[in-house]
Amino acid sequence: MVPDLVGKLRAAGYQVTVQAGAGSGALLFDPAYEVAGALVTEHPFDEADVVLSVQPLDANCLAPLPSGATTISFFPYAERPTDVALRRERKFTTFGMEYVPRISRAQSMDALSSQALVAGYRGAIVAADMLGQFFPLSMTAAGTVPPAQVVVLGAGVAGLQAIATCRRLGAVVKGYDVRAAAAEEIRSMGAQAIELPLPTLEGAGGYAREMTEDRAQRQRELLASYIAAADALITTAAVPGRRAPLLVTTEMIMQMAPGSVVIDLAAEAGGNVEGVVAGSVVRVGPVQLWGGANVPSQMPGPASRLYAQNVLNVIMLMTRDGRFAPDFDDEITSAMCVTHAGNVLHDGG
Ligand code: NAD
Repeated sequence: MVPDLVGKLRAAGYQVTVQAGAGSGALLFDPAYEVAGALVTEHPFDEADVVLSVQPLDANCLAPLPSGATTISFFPYAERPTDVALRRERKFTTFGMEYVPRISRAQSMDALSSQALVAGYRGAIVAADMLGQFFPLSMTAAGTVPPAQVVVLGAGVAGLQAIATCRRLGAVVKGYDVRAAAAEEIRSMGAQAIELPLPTLEGAGGYAREMTEDRAQRQRELLASYIAAADALITTAAVPGRRAPLLVTTEMIMQMAPGSVVIDLAAEAGGNVEGVVAGSVVRVGPVQLWGGANVPSQMPGPASRLYAQNVLNVIMLMTRDGRFAPDFDDEITSAMCVTHAGNVLHDGG
């Protein structure tokens, strides 16, 4: 939660308690929460009905929570079997922010989108920073500096934001995505849509489908010349519930000009680029390969602000007559609910 939104929670009928130091990583310090009307304490869990966080609470935080309390955070189900068992036993209600359905009524609660937006922006800025060249065309008395050539693979929320940011910085940008609708979206950002002679791959819910290995190989062959000509490559491709697709091999990177940069925003999900290491910069021949790790946290101000607004909107959905009273028949509430009243309602799939 950010101090600016504490007043909205209070106006809705809630008392707000903040763990001391909780916002300091985002330069949101305790006095700002107090001025906004929150109580700041070292022990916020003992009497909490609803706990808001980004990552799931660890066992130390869950222990003092009253039985039947509610938590709202990201909740990567598959990674937390012990946690799920404990939550069933203690009858906690668990809402996972990543399970907000992608329907228009839920857009204001969609934290995957808000955090992808931050990651896409950050990826473009890192590319511009690491590349020892101008992004914009510059015509001076001393001569012309050509604009940087950028390729963005994956044009969902993060990719489109990376494209838009690189365009604003003046680079010449090309984008590619397997979904048919993406080409028009890429063009609407002022970039060129790379069109490959391959079938599109639409899956359920507006997401992409996984590629077969044959298709992946063909796609890599067809993209190789675009990547070789790029000064900066930004990859953002993902398929829900799967390892990130491998779009770029070491051999392809080796064809890029010395000093080029590759930014892989899918590094934590296995990477779109061969050899990427999340949280590190790896040298591949003459090219630097940057692997994103918890990228939204590298822009803590906007990431916190947007996430807090998403969570506030979830709370408002679940508030009736000044009380926290989720309606489990509501499409958004039921999609988000992982555990409730001793049952597992959602297996993260
Ligand atoms: P995502 O993070 O799952 O994937 C990122 C992108 O990678 C997607 O555009 C996907 O098509 C692309 N991709 C997957 N495999 C690829 C491959 N082999 N090569 C190239 N690209 C590949 O997706 P996302 O950014 O979360 O959003 C995906 C879609 O959902 C978009 O159409 C977006 O507009 C839509 N969306 C809708 C809502 C809503 O209606 N509320 C909210 C957010 C996103």
